[in-house]
Amino acid sequence: MSEQNHIGWDRDADGVVTLTMDAPGQSANTMNRAFIEALGPVLDRLEAEKDEIAGVVVTSAKKTFFAGGDLNELIQARPEDAADVMARNLQIKALLRRLETFGRPVAAAINGAALGGGLEIALSTHHRVALDVKGTEIGFPEVTLGLLPGAGGVVRSVRLLGITDALLKVLLQGQRYKPAAALEIGLVHEVVATPTELLAAAKAWVLANPEAKQPWDVPGYRIPGGDPKNPKFAANLPAFPANLRKQLKGADYPAPRNILAAAVEGARLDFDNAMTVEARYFVELVTGQVAKNMTQAFFFDMQKVTNGASRPAGYEPWTATKVAVLGAGMMGAGIAYVCARGGIEVVLKDVSVEAAQKGKAYSAELLDKAVARGKMTREAADSVLARIHPTADAADTAGADLVIEAVFESPELKAKVFGEIQDVIAPDALLGSNTSTLPITGLARAVKRPADFIGLHFFSPVDKMPLLEIIVGEQTSDAAIAKAFDLAKQIKKTPIIVNDSRGFFTSRVIGRFLDEAMAMLDEGLRPNSIEQAGSQAGYPAPPLQLMDELTLTLPQKIRNEARAAAGPDWVEHGSGIVLNRMIDEYGRGGRSAGAGFYEYVDGKRAGLWPGLREAFPPHVGIPFQDMQERMLFAEALDSVRCLDEGVLRSVAEANVGSILGIGFPAWTGGVIQYINGYEGGVTGFVARAKELHGKYGERFAVPQSLVEKAERGERVE
Ligand code: NAD
Repeated sequence: MSEQNHIGWDRDADGVVTLTMDAPGQSANTMNRAFIEALGPVLDRLEAEKDEIAGVVVTSAKKTFFAGGDLNELIQARPEDAADVMARNLQIKALLRRLETFGRPVAAAINGAALGGGLEIALSTHHRVALDVKGTEIGFPEVTLGLLPGAGGVVRSVRLLGITDALLKVLLQGQRYKPAAALEIGLVHEVVATPTELLAAAKAWVLANPEAKQPWDVPGYRIPGGDPKNPKFAANLPAFPANLRKQLKGADYPAPRNILAAAVEGARLDFDNAMTVEARYFVELVTGQVAKNMTQAFFFDMQKVTNGASRPAGYEPWTATKVAVLGAGMMGAGIAYVCARGGIEVVLKDVSVEAAQKGKAYSAELLDKAVARGKMTREAADSVLARIHPTADAADTAGADLVIEAVFESPELKAKVFGEIQDVIAPDALLGSNTSTLPITGLARAVKRPADFIGLHFFSPVDKMPLLEIIVGEQTSDAAIAKAFDLAKQIKKTPIIVNDSRGFFTSRVIGRFLDEAMAMLDEGLRPNSIEQAGSQAGYPAPPLQLMDELTLTLPQKIRNEARAAAGPDWVEHGSGIVLNRMIDEYGRGGRSAGAGFYEYVDGKRAGLWPGLREAFPPHVGIPFQDMQERMLFAEALDSVRCLDEGVLRSVAEANVGSILGIGFPAWTGGVIQYINGYEGGVTGFVARAKELHGKYGERFAVPQSLVEKAERGERVE
């Protein structure tokens, strides 16, 4: 592959060389082997022809500037490849170092997204001009894939912005900035509106700055805001790891830990040594398991899910124009908000106009906040709010092409509210229910058009939670599934499509986590150890706390129904005993009841309920690892059953849905990647599950399908 077709070279009459990155046969430029091989000769030529060159502009022929590391390559790296990965990393670093030091001014003309490696290339130039078009995002999302920007991203951002800003604004959270925001924090120098201005501005800058140097190459340079050698700054340093631990709630995420270490250690060293330190921390991440897990879930699986791998083929794209949201309670109010933001006219119906107006007021509050934070203009906010029409009159739903029902969790009530509107709305409207537990097939029996009936399961708070679980009933048509998928995209949610069953995928599997925690309480384990085990396993909320939020009464009701249905075959789970006693003996139904596993003072959580010690006296201890893995394995094993039963349709949806919907720890890569990535792979997982089965009960029995995969040495795909 020649440099001409990978990185175009064009020298104009002023002596400015425009390097146009254009990876052959790829839709985006990535930092793969071919790119690195092409970059070497380009630098040789720049150095050789330096006398005829006034400056350099780096840009791209693709829609994006540069996409970053080649994740297909990175995900393959094993611990035994560490030396190779290190060598390649140092090679990339050396090439970019040559670009910023060969003696001529270099500007980046950022024509589209510059994420990860793209920003690292841009930071290796002396001046960055960004084009303000849709899709131009600038930042280091590596941390969200369990990685760090290893082509100098840590070292240069620290030296450009200072340790604190680099960590908090760029490195630790993987923020993606639009050009104006990138300008404000100092990642770019100029923002322009058209491609012509972009190249012109970059060229003008190099011509005007023949002596350009990186700030860190100017004698006397100091890291902005101080470096760790400065006693005042050093005094603040211990707060960094402490804050990070607090933010991660004790869970061990290697990427933020390594980013912090690379930033702080690197700041004590000269540029070249800082680069070597960054390389070591990068290699450790790349060859480790967590980066593989997170890259699988947040890149590969996410891509499959959002590209519509599960959307039935052959249906025209669909756009909802008017939705009837039935029920303006907590969920209905949130659903009205996301629909209105997605450009849909919303009829928000409750039993009284006052109740519906209260639901609308929720949107007003969220919009005011968005305006106050500068995320939205007042005009835009007003026009979103104007789309929401509160009412108590079914006639107002006339012509709606979509219904989303969110009344109380009662089949009779749901049947009644659909009955009120089904002859008023458009004759082919999609009929969605936001039920979190009731089987869709059963609810569909109450409507005239069961083929158009589908589950649209949102998560609370609706405006923040990114997942939409679409549930397919026995009679749901493919056309309805395709519409539901398109709706998710329209309102900016990530859809997974699952088949009907009690609790679908998400409510069913999260139940396994919560059941396990309550069973441990029943066994006599200390409640604060259970909470700690959950947090340190990486769950966003500890299980008993989460149980309180979700309320204890609904699971008890479901449990009682299941018990009655099973008759003498019923095997009691420790969690059932805990639920019954908490509600029936102590009247503690969860947060909304003002009392649960925790105490609540003025509506605020105030520590675990001291009475728990008497109610469930702690008298045993088991290994902490067992506590954590009982929760993780209970969910993972039930997800395999969901795949076997056809409730889940794909591994990608299982992984994405479990992280985005029910807080399965992100470091695992999701419920199924956790199994594939477990130490020893599926075989290792099965061996460990058998141990848990022997020690803790039938629910850890390994599904036959998984045993067979382990025997054949296969992954769950
Ligand atoms: P909620 O009690 O906050 O709201 C229910 C609303 O329905 C109330 O405003 C009530 O006045 C209204 N309503 C009752 N009868 C009505 C009628 N005949 N016509 C119109 N409106 C009527 O409940 P919620 O938490 O918003 O839950 C609603 C649904 O969403 C339930 O099916 C629930 O299972 C499901 N869900 C809840 C959550 C959650 O976290 N709360 C998550 C996902 C799904």
